[in-house]
This record gives sequence, structure tokens and C-alpha cells, in this order.
Amino acid sequence: MAKILGIDLGTTNSLAAVWDNGKSVLVPNAFGEYLTPSVVSVDEEGTVYVGKTAKQRLASYPGQTASLFKRFMGTGKQYRLGQKTYLPEELSALVLRKLKEDAEKFLGESVEEAVISVPAYFNDIARNATKRAGAIAGLKVERIINEPSAAALACQNFRQQEDATILVFDFGGGTLDVSLVECFDNIIEIKAVSGDNQLGGQDFDNALAAHFLRSFKIDPENLTWETKAIIRSSAERCKKELTESKTAEMVVNSPQICEKITISRKDLVTICADLFQKMGKPVKRVLMDGKISTDMIDDIVLVGGSCKMPIVRQYLEHILQRKDIETMNPDQMIALGVGVSAGIKERDEEIKDMILTDICPFSLGVNVVNETNPDKKLTSFIIERNSPLPISKEQIYVNSWDGQTCMRFGIYQGEAMYVEDNILLGEIKMSIPPRPKHTVECRVRFTYDINGVLEVNAYIPMTNEEKQMVIVNKELNMSKTQIEEKLKEFSQIKIDPAQDEENHYLMAWGERLFMQCDGEMKEEIMRKMHGYEHVIKTDPYSAGKARKYLTVFLTCVESMLDHYLNWDEKEINMGSWYEDEGDAEMDEFFKKWDEEDL
Ligand code: ADP
Ligand code: MG
Repeated sequence: MAKILGIDLGTTNSLAAVWDNGKSVLVPNAFGEYLTPSVVSVDEEGTVYVGKTAKQRLASYPGQTASLFKRFMGTGKQYRLGQKTYLPEELSALVLRKLKEDAEKFLGESVEEAVISVPAYFNDIARNATKRAGAIAGLKVERIINEPSAAALACQNFRQQEDATILVFDFGGGTLDVSLVECFDNIIEIKAVSGDNQLGGQDFDNALAAHFLRSFKIDPENLTWETKAIIRSSAERCKKELTESKTAEMVVNSPQICEKITISRKDLVTICADLFQKMGKPVKRVLMDGKISTDMIDDIVLVGGSCKMPIVRQYLEHILQRKDIETMNPDQMIALGVGVSAGIKERDEEIKDMILTDICPFSLGVNVVNETNPDKKLTSFIIERNSPLPISKEQIYVNSWDGQTCMRFGIYQGEAMYVEDNILLGEIKMSIPPRPKHTVECRVRFTYDINGVLEVNAYIPMTNEEKQMVIVNKELNMSKTQIEEKLKEFSQIKIDPAQDEENHYLMAWGERLFMQCDGEMKEEIMRKMHGYEHVIKTDPYSAGKARKYLTVFLTCVESMLDHYLNWDEKEINMGSWYEDEGDAEMDEFFKKWDEEDL
């Protein structure tokens, strides 16, 4: 049977996994890496770059590059990249197609189906948009799994432990998801979810960037887009360095600003104090919703790149009064779990006993008459938030006035008391016989399944009339032919072929550094890049060597950018610097290019 690809389609990074030989394994991309940045860029010729090449182009070609689009899935937001505009699900489709193509190359077989994880707070519209992204990428997506369910699956699969209550703390680039999961007799049940979709690693970057600007009394109004991007990425680098060491330098080296400050972990805590406060709230809420105390939790699983920060773990230990929180590959947990889910869907013998339940992350209901204020209809909830899935529930409604001939039920998603504050998903209309008020019954049944499909049934016992509808959002949902057209349109888009990818990545990297540097270093980068292009075109035999050397060179430039400020002032002697590196052979090689090219 063909393999199903498990995909963690992340805001910042995406990963793929498959169920293989009784376990979930990550699938590397064309660079041999597990993380593919969820970034898409288009060049003048219309070639699409996805992943780390596109990420380099964020700073050098901001107008042709998009990132963080997952946040706007299903909203209709348009991204203009070069000549064309794209919806968030179309950009996601390009990421999915890249993952699919890389996986096919790695697995040596074609992949037609995928299970994709989405945040628990994603509403139906966003879930449908995710499925559509799959369809446009040429993938059948029958199952969408909540990210916390995936993390719990991975955890349970790893530890092979007995019954357990697990707290999943997923702290990514832009969102925080906290969930309480119970595992009993091979049933994995999500008991409660909570979170903050406006809190993530980027907020730490932004806080650091703001601190930097304050320290030097710089008004961000006067900065170019490029400088702002450089400041943000320096902030992120500094934050990541603080994961490894107790202090780190934040260095900004752009044509507009050349400054650095030293930040300690303690500073980071002070600068980001309000973020920690926000972080604690969903944890408390989930424990309250799940009606348990911290000592009843068996395992605390940290997921998402931001959990790598030691201060995040320490803060959690503090608020949970626990000393036993460990971090295992936080950025791989979800993908590994989706891989398990793919295995379940493949009905692999090894895991046929594992039953995955999920919960409904939002409430679903219908509108009812508000006697005191007829203009503001109330929500009557049929399925409550945090209900285990699949679920089927019925409520009985009666006619509100004498002689009423029709009952209309708007179907809503959300937690608000008034329907106008919730999301309208559809409407069902029932004709009823004209009778005195409160004498005609209509039974409304909602069935919500693990794949996020809502089925609504309305039944009038008096007339035996019954109506059924399956909720799909009309405006944003596409018909089969529309999907086919999109699929055709998108399959004509050329994604940078894997064999050229490494070259293009190096060029994009070089271009970004070129933009960031000035003076002598700018010229040096240009010389090396020209030389490199020359070798690639004329001497394919040396291409591998040239790639290796250019990579070393760019890595050096990058690290020098991180640690030195002004090239010309510091009088960095390129020659002696290479000798320091102890690679005379490389120096020779570069010299040859220089001579040939200039
Ligand atoms: P998402 O689920 O949003 O795609 P990830 O789980 O990949 O995100 O996490 C991305 C976030 O993790 C980014 O904000 C990134 O800066 C942060 N991050 C990654 N590695 C580290 C690290 N070593 N230290 C601190 N933060 C990190
Ligand atoms: Mg994530």
C-alpha cells in the first residue's frame, strides 16, 4: 500500500514523517534536513523557491517572498509575489508540494495522500483551507489532526508507557497551545485545550528588537524595511544564542545601523516579563477545565521551537511547582505524531489497537429567540467546547409564536452569548404546521467527527419531515472542477528543482550577506559569487568543491557579521583571516577564481 505522508505544516517550519517498520520516522528534505522553513519566494522568471532558499530571500527580495501565512489560513488575505497574488492556502500548497516532492525522492515512491496537523484553535474555515491546500498540491487529505493530539500520540508512542495524564505545552513561532491529554488502555483522549494565538517566539524577537532600539534611542519610523528585517533576525539569533549560553551579543550590522548590545538570560526575562505572564494563563485554564491539579499530571511534554529556551522550561517548573520537566526534540514531536497518525490511517497491524480521540476546540450551536431583546439573538449550544470527538448531540426546540410556519436555524461556531459575535457556518430552514406557540417540536442534531466535518440533522416529529446538511463554507470552499483547475494551474508552477536547489540557496545566501555588508566585504562577496557562478557554468567537475568552499566562506562572513561591527574600521585582513582558518588550499582555489573572473 502506498505510504501516507504525515505533515506538520507549521507557521515557521514544516516537517514530514512516515510510518515505517512499526515506527514513525522523519523524512528529510533535499538538503537532508528535517525542517523546511514555511517560506515561499518567486523570482522574475516565475520559478518558485520553498524552504531555506526562500528564507534567505526574505531579506533580499521582501516584495517577492512570503512567510507566516499559516496565521491567515482561510481568511482570503492576498499575498502579492511578483506578478501574481496568492491566498494563504495556495502558498501552503506550494510548501506541501515541496514536502511531497522531497519525500517522494527520499522514499523512492510516489505519495498521494497526507495527514496534516493544524492548531486546535483552527476553525472549520481554516481546516477546510488546509484540505484545499492539500488538494492544490495534488495530495488527498482525508484526515486533519489537532497538533496537541499529534504531540500526545508521539509521546505515548515514544515512551510506550502505561496510562498517563499528559500536559502538552506547544510553544511555536507565533502561537501557544496548551492541552491536557489522557491515555488509558490505548485510548488517547484530549480532555481540554487552551492557548493564545497571539503569543510565540516572534514576540521574544520583537521585544528584544524594541529593547535594542530603545537602548540606542532609535526611532523605527526612520528605518527601512530591510534594516527592520535585519534587526529582527539579529534579535532572533541573539535569543537562540541565549538558549546555549548565559549571555549573548545582539549585533546589528546594516547600512543604516552598526551597533551591538550584550544581553543576559536575566535581561531576557526582564525584557519579556509580560510574555511570561501571558504564558502562564492557558496552563492554568487547561488545568481548571480538566479539573486536575498539577500533581496529577504524569508527564509534561514540551513541543515547539520556543520550548528550547531554558527560561521557558524554568518558568513552567515554577508555575507548575515541578522539577521534572524534560525536553526531547521539541520541534519534531508533532511531525512524529502525525507520522503515527498516518500509520493508524494506513491500518498498520502494529498500532491497530491505538484509538485516537480528539476534542472539539470550539462550541457549536444555533440561534434562538431573545425575549428581552429580539434584535440580539442568543446562542443555544449543542456541542460544548472540549467535548470528546466523535460526538453526536441533540437539542429540542419549539415554535416561538402562534401560527409560525417556518423555523430557521443559523448554525454557529464560537463561545459568545449572542450569535452575532460567533461565526455563521450555515442555515437550515424547516417548514412547520401553523399551531399555538410551544407546541411544535424540532429536534436538531449535530454530529461532529474527528475529521472536523459537521453534520446537521433537523427533524419535525409532528410531520415526520427531516432535513440534513453537511457544513462546508460556500464562499471559500471550491467545487471539484475549481479544485481541478487550481491543481492544473499550480502544477504548471515550476518549483526550483532539487538538483539546482543547493546552488540557488548559496546564491540567495550570498545576496543577503552582500546586502548586509559594505565596503571591502561587499566586493569580496561579489568576487566569490561571480567566481562560484563561473565554476558552476564552466567546470561542473569542480562544482562540489566550489560549493564546499563558498559555504565555508559564507559561514565565516555570517559569523563575522555576528561578532564584528564595521569592516573598514576593524581592518580585518581577509588574507590572514583565511590563514587563521588554516585552509591554504581554499585560499588558492578562491584566488584562481578571482584571476579568471576579473
Ligand atoms: P511553528 O510551530 O510556529 O512553525 P516552531 O515550533 O518551528 O514554530 O518554532 C519556531 C520558533 O522557535 C521561532 O520563534 C524560533 O525563533 C524558535 N526557536 C527555534 N530554535 C530555538 C532555540 N534554539 N532557542 C530559542 N528559540 C528557538
Ligand atoms: Mg508548531
